[in-house]
Amino acid sequence: MKRLQNRVAWVTGSSRGIGRVVAEHLASLGAKVALHGTTPTSTRQLGEADSLDAVANDIATAHGVDVLPVHGDLTDVDTVARNVAEIRDRFGRIDILINNAGGDIGSTGVTGENAGKPIVNDAVNISLTDVETILDRNLRTCILVCREVVPEMMQRNEGWIVTIGSIAGLSGHPREVSYSVAKAAVHEYTRCLAAQLRPHGVYANVIAPGEIITPRFEASRPTREDRKVQTGALTRYGWPQEVARAVEFFVTSDSSYVTGQVLRVDGGMQLFPA
Ligand code: NDP
Repeated sequence: MKRLQNRVAWVTGSSRGIGRVVAEHLASLGAKVALHGTTPTSTRQLGEADSLDAVANDIATAHGVDVLPVHGDLTDVDTVARNVAEIRDRFGRIDILINNAGGDIGSTGVTGENAGKPIVNDAVNISLTDVETILDRNLRTCILVCREVVPEMMQRNEGWIVTIGSIAGLSGHPREVSYSVAKAAVHEYTRCLAAQLRPHGVYANVIAPGEIITPRFEASRPTREDRKVQTGALTRYGWPQEVARAVEFFVTSDSSYVTGQVLRVDGGMQLFPA
């Protein structure tokens, strides 16, 4: 019997990057998985796959589990409700929610210059449109999804929520300010959720990754080849699988008395209290 056999997981933003690897890892542990991207073919934006369906088929075939692709912009209330209804129709419930959708992607989107990372990206000069886009993409999506998914977990007195934050939300920055603020906010929102959910036995924790190699990470900044190694000095970049293993900790009995925490997965890049 696999560790997550009979569990249902929804990983938001799992069409590509970290989310896709997390979704596949949960599937490898036996979970039924709802895969998600903004559109059926947004997987093509950085050449990561032909379609969401293709990613779903790959994961289902590799791990012998049921995988349901759902799509839509999660800043939209009705879209969130539609996605959750589709998942419940197919699987009955959601046991594990991974709030992964997000990123420091401004109003031009992933296909824009700098893979969407705003060129003017500081605390004073960033455009209001980019501020709103980044806050919505990270904070609004997280809150809307939790509002739709969590009440049913509370009724059943069972559930596991993991929010993917960022070390950017744990210290001051001269750049990527809106992103840092948004991630600090999702950290705090998840802590508040954990406090509310304690009596229900529902867990809510945060993973704050450092520099994790994904196609969008590489497309949005200069990167160093010598740091793209799997082992050795922890000054290397991290890999999505290393985030996925931390997710496993938070959604299994390994963390049976752990909630409301922010765990950095950053190779020790930040070594001060959260
Ligand atoms: P990617 O850009 O590769 O993937 C982002 C995912 O989020 C995609 O599936 C995308 O969907 C989805 N998404 C974006 N906006 C929305 C929206 N409005 N509604 C629904 N889905 C949306 O990012 P990464 O894999 O690099 O990052 C994943 C998470 O990890 C993000 O929250 C990011 O902030 C965080 N993180 C990443 C780090 C890194 O170094 N890579 C470091 C720290 C944190 P679509 O494919 O349709 O565009």
